[in-house]
Amino acid sequence: MTIYLDYAATTPADPQVIEVMKHYLGIEDIFGNPSSIQHHVGLQAEEAVEQARAQIAACLNCRIKDIVFTSGATEANNLALKGIAHANQHLGNHIITSAIEHKSVLDTCKALEQDGFKITYLRPDIDGKIALKDIEQAITTQTLLISIMQVNNETGFIQDIAAIAEFAQSKNIFFHVDAAQSAGKLTLDLSQIPIDLLSISAHKFYAPKGIGCLYIRNRHNVSLKPLFNGGGQEYGLRAGTLATHQIVAFAKALMIAGERQQQDYDHALNLRTQLLTGLKQIDGLIINSDLNNSLPNIVNLSFKNIGADMLLIRLQDKIAISSASACSSGTIEPSYVLRAMGIEGDRLYGAVRISFGRFSHAEDIKYAIDKITATVQELRALV
Ligand SMILES: *Cc1c(COP(=O)(O)O)cnc(C)c1O
Repeated sequence: MTIYLDYAATTPADPQVIEVMKHYLGIEDIFGNPSSIQHHVGLQAEEAVEQARAQIAACLNCRIKDIVFTSGATEANNLALKGIAHANQHLGNHIITSAIEHKSVLDTCKALEQDGFKITYLRPDIDGKIALKDIEQAITTQTLLISIMQVNNETGFIQDIAAIAEFAQSKNIFFHVDAAQSAGKLTLDLSQIPIDLLSISAHKFYAPKGIGCLYIRNRHNVSLKPLFNGGGQEYGLRAGTLATHQIVAFAKALMIAGERQQQDYDHALNLRTQLLTGLKQIDGLIINSDLNNSLPNIVNLSFKNIGADMLLIRLQDKIAISSASACSSGTIEPSYVLRAMGIEGDRLYGAVRISFGRFSHAEDIKYAIDKITATVQELRALV
């Protein structure tokens, strides 16, 4: 029996979401191409897509036409950064981001460096916070775009996105937010916060993998170079046949997340308290997440003198948890996120991420505590 405690990597789809999706696939269903609006089969699919777009916009409190569907947050991050950079080079060639962004932002920035853009990678403090004053100091007359994630996928740390947005707006700099870990978990009222671009991935909140969106504030007035050329879907910003079943699933999952936000949050907080109370019985537990400033569904921790690779190998058929990226050779690379926070030594090499959610139970956490405790004791007995 493997207990799944890797919800930050992906979530299982909610049964209500699966139920909705089923009606957009088969011959008896609404399976048409949403762009085939010359006939009724396509029109029905188009209506389903537009209803979903309106529901998503209502959840985010933004304009319906500012939502562009993508395959997920990786694509949305690429479209936001490359799209803005390549269409607005005349305004400046400098981008500010942080060293703890998801690879889909960092690798996109690396690609933009090849194209002549200058990138500043800000380092957080030991808790994971990116200081507004560091952003203020980094800007130049050439700064075109700031990209900062709302919630970090390895630690759960929540950045003060509203403060950065106000600042970026006051300087007339585009502001992009990777909201892959926060959407559906924190209230995002886009009518209140001047964010220009925001990336969402639906499989992080109980929809299937392969769907997400980029929100573009006042899309009509923003020039963005598309990543793909083709059928002109999504106002020409994202060519490719729209995945109706994925899109309705995304909307359903986001609405459920909105209704259950407090309930899901309280549930995660209870599980986190249970987990940490249990693990504190182990000598040398170090908590790398800032518990006062993090989403409760993600906890990053280390055990003194215990390497994450040894721990994960022994636990892998019992509990599904993760360390930083396991690389192709099978060895574990230490987390660049924790390293940027200034964490080093066995605290760095021992860091594991435990993340849970809607379908996690107190019994799962109890099982995880028992298995982790036993494994840490076994490993300590070896030396
Ligand atoms: C999961 C994740 C992504 C990538 O999203 P996909 O939809 O899987 O491409 C980007 N950023 C963060 C912070 C994530 O957690």
